[in-house]
Amino acid sequence: MPRFALRCRACHTVSAAPDAYACAECLGPLEVSYDHTLTGEALRDAIRSGPTSLWRYAPLLPVATVPDDPVGWTPLVRADRLGRELGLDELWLKNDTVTPSFSFKDRVVAVAAQRAKELGYDTIACASTGNLAGAVAAAAARLGLRAVVFVPATTEPAKLAAVTTYGARLVLVDGTYDEVNRLVGQIAEERRWAFVNFTLRPYYVEGSKTLLFETAEQLGWRLPDALVIPIASGAMFVNNAKAAGELVATGLVADRPLAFFGAQPAGCAPVADAFASGAPRYVPVKRPQTIAHALAIGSPADGNLVLEIARRSGGAVEAASDDEIRASIALVARTAGIFVEPAGGTTVAALVRLAERGLLPRGGTVVAYLTGNGFKTPDVVPLDTDAVVRIPARLDAFEDALPEPPPTVAGRELAEVR
Ligand SMILES: [Zn+2]
Repeated sequence: MPRFALRCRACHTVSAAPDAYACAECLGPLEVSYDHTLTGEALRDAIRSGPTSLWRYAPLLPVATVPDDPVGWTPLVRADRLGRELGLDELWLKNDTVTPSFSFKDRVVAVAAQRAKELGYDTIACASTGNLAGAVAAAAARLGLRAVVFVPATTEPAKLAAVTTYGARLVLVDGTYDEVNRLVGQIAEERRWAFVNFTLRPYYVEGSKTLLFETAEQLGWRLPDALVIPIASGAMFVNNAKAAGELVATGLVADRPLAFFGAQPAGCAPVADAFASGAPRYVPVKRPQTIAHALAIGSPADGNLVLEIARRSGGAVEAASDDEIRASIALVARTAGIFVEPAGGTTVAALVRLAERGLLPRGGTVVAYLTGNGFKTPDVVPLDTDAVVRIPARLDAFEDALPEPPPTVAGRELAEVR
């Protein structure tokens, strides 16, 4: 009996085809379900002796073999200075800005690309708002596959240069992300390519689970009290809830309440708007307007499930303006030394709002996911000219420009110690 299968989320029928994405019976979405033979301490031992990458969780992932592809196992950083500013006693940041292509998308692509190889595909492809394009191109280069990526023509140029440098074929589409997605749906019927976030989506989304697997292990095998997660399609949010269930079901962590909080940019906040109004379903946003391009999905596939999980778990979905996003990029850079792109700024901005509203557990363990690197979107935050001086190359000019300040309190204390 195989260790995992694709099962319909709606009618629970098991799919006969290993590379289907919709149920043959009811067209419902397929998801991976597992027959966990390894649990508890034996599973923990297997994980501990695995590689220091997301592949240490291979027993909980839908792959037949483990590739030598070092993705994941990113730092979980205790952010005490940011926590103090927000009035949170125990705040952690999962720093996914430091992956092979500098966004969390390397996780989902690693799982989908490995599965594509196992199913005999030679080309991986995707529709992307930017980061996924880079992750697909990089994974294809690592694994020796071909890559074709489709993006809205408005995507940040810094993200696209990397795509072609990795050797992928880039298709710029004049349209929104949702329009790119529709086009890709038509192409997928004609070409036998592994569209990682479409035809291989059931495997792809499983990669998101590794964020919580790592977080739980890095916390000493325990669940946090609250997770703050950015919402684009909602797949990360939904699959982290699935991951929490699997961690508990396999006995890796104790069962305890975990509240799921979502973050969206105000210029594309269908799920946050529905949460605020109490509506059971979201209304799609036709023309997203935000600097957080990575989160500019007007019709998030898992949006309604996000609403359900946020409400059921005692969480919330919060929206933040572009100005708040920019300010939050600076805040987390200044207090934690992590430079995030606007998606990460959106998460921190939501964290700030949620803390101000008293919705996060003050004394509890709060974890926020930082999903993309700020060096990919350098135009979003301008140079702070107040922090800059320009001088001729002479010592006296330097001393005029930056006269030594009087000793600080900390400096005097240091003198006394000496
Ligand atoms: Zn079904």
